[in-house]
Amino acid sequence: MRVVIVGGGFGGVRAALNLAKKEAFEVKLISDRSYFEYHAALYRSATGRSPLEVAIPLIDFFRDIPNVEVIKDQIVKLEPNNSLIIGEAGSSYKYDKLILAVGSVTQYFGISGLKEYSYGVKTIQEALELKRHLHEDLINHLPNLRHYVVVGAGASGVELASELVAYLKHIRKNHNINQNFTVDLIEAADQVLPAMPPDFSLKVKQRLKKLGVRVYLNTPVQAESMDAIHLPGGEIKSQTVVWTAGLTNNPLFQQNKAIFKPERNGKIKVNEYLELSPHIYIIGDSAQTKFSGMAQTALHDANYVTSDLLNQNKSASRKKYQPKKPIYAIPVGPRWSAVLWGRGRVYGYSGWILRRLADLRLYINFLSLVKGLTVWRYGIVLSENCPVCSKKR
Ligand SMILES: Cc1cc2nc3c(=O)[nH]c(=O)nc-3n(C[C@H](O)[C@H](O)[C@H](O)COP(=O)(O)OP(=O)(O)OC[C@H]3O[C@@H](n4cnc5c(N)ncnc54)[C@H](O)[C@@H]3O)c2cc1C
Repeated sequence: MRVVIVGGGFGGVRAALNLAKKEAFEVKLISDRSYFEYHAALYRSATGRSPLEVAIPLIDFFRDIPNVEVIKDQIVKLEPNNSLIIGEAGSSYKYDKLILAVGSVTQYFGISGLKEYSYGVKTIQEALELKRHLHEDLINHLPNLRHYVVVGAGASGVELASELVAYLKHIRKNHNINQNFTVDLIEAADQVLPAMPPDFSLKVKQRLKKLGVRVYLNTPVQAESMDAIHLPGGEIKSQTVVWTAGLTNNPLFQQNKAIFKPERNGKIKVNEYLELSPHIYIIGDSAQTKFSGMAQTALHDANYVTSDLLNQNKSASRKKYQPKKPIYAIPVGPRWSAVLWGRGRVYGYSGWILRRLADLRLYINFLSLVKGLTVWRYGIVLSENCPVCSKKR
């Protein structure tokens, strides 16, 4: 059976690994990047840790696996009637079963100036660009160096804002800058981590305050200009605004509107087998499922569709998809995490250990034990290109 998987992220890589060495399947994994990105560690790359923890070459997962071919291409068009997908240079790929695992992209909700002036932490390029900017600002002594703004108090915004405090102290000391600074976390909703239980959110807010992060709730961003972020109560002068607040579905679905009918949130409705139609599965961030938007869901979806394929291949009966509630482990500053596991909560250093173990579990699940441990270790390895900071590590 020819299985074509589009997207070399959590869902796509997991699905391809599950079908690896299964002779009945001839697998093509097509991705527009030649590497897998571990998003959960992007905030660490932005704040001085090695990018090697985040960007892992796809080929590292599939070395010596004869039935999985990794192809770098961007899929732009689908022709379901011919069981074909088309790449950007016109190459075409035929499938018996297609798995779309293309993830989500940043959206700015049309807010003026954000796209032009804000930084991001959705990709490794964005994280490294932010880190470079933080250092360049210090080297060039730009004005408005005192305010650093993170927009969006979801998990990514909380992780970044809290880690920024310690990182900025460290690099400002290296650059001999003693002036005070602020890290502001701006959120449109009435609590940090808007999707989480209020008691959990409150604990995280208290921790943020203890670290020195200034939290603004009920504060929707109105616009950004070259040197300020504009809020309902006035502006904050800043040349470092990081936008973490908006994601939307991959544009591939809009580009192929005749085939996909995106829901209001942009995700695609799937049936009880995660299918759009009998030969096309949609998984991960792109599918309209209960816990879509989490890496853990993308992995769960990949495990489901590959077991469905194996069942179909054996002509065994099919089981319906059941969503699985994720565990939330959110780092809030160095060596402190808040963990929400069903009804249980863990805060502090033990939470941080749980979070690091979750990172490790993912790496050794995807890679060999030795390679997985090596990549995991990069999470504590310092990495600086800044000529001042690299000397003072
Ligand atoms: C900063 C950040 C932190 C996060 N932290 C966590 C966390 O701690 N825990 C958690 O569970 N989740 C976390 N998430 C969410 C998690 O990363 C996503 O839910 C997960 O990546 C979704 O997996 P996916 O397979 O759907 O898509 P992705 O992992 O995004 O993979 C999509 C892949 O498709 C490729 N692609 C896209 N378009 C095309 C195309 N047209 N043709 C070919 N290839 C294409 C992309 O290059 C990418 O490789 C975080 C996300 C971010 C941004």
